[in-house]
Amino acid sequence: MCFGGRVQFRGRAIEFYEVGTKWMIQRLPNGQFTLALTLGHTILGQTAASLDVARMHETVHVAQYERWGPFFLTAYFLSSTYMWLTGRRIYRDNPFEREAYETD
Ligand SMILES: [Zn+2]
Repeated sequence: MCFGGRVQFRGRAIEFYEVGTKWMIQRLPNGQFTLALTLGHTILGQTAASLDVARMHETVHVAQYERWGPFFLTAYFLSSTYMWLTGRRIYRDNPFEREAYETD
């Protein structure tokens, strides 16, 4: 792609990985530990191998996006906020992440 990355189609998602996406993911908070992330039907991964490891988890997020539509990001953020306000972990206790990790 334009940043030297690669693209592939898997299931209902398009996946981008390597150079540009790897560079971007590594600059996110905890990015060095992030294999991939999902935005709608787009999955961004650091490498092809990281996508292979994370694909089942990220596919659950694709289904969540389909279920919640334009409200997904707001619902995800509010869920994390509620977890934080109630003393739980904002990421691992978020119901959207718990559902995704149940498939791992
Ligand atoms: Zn997740």
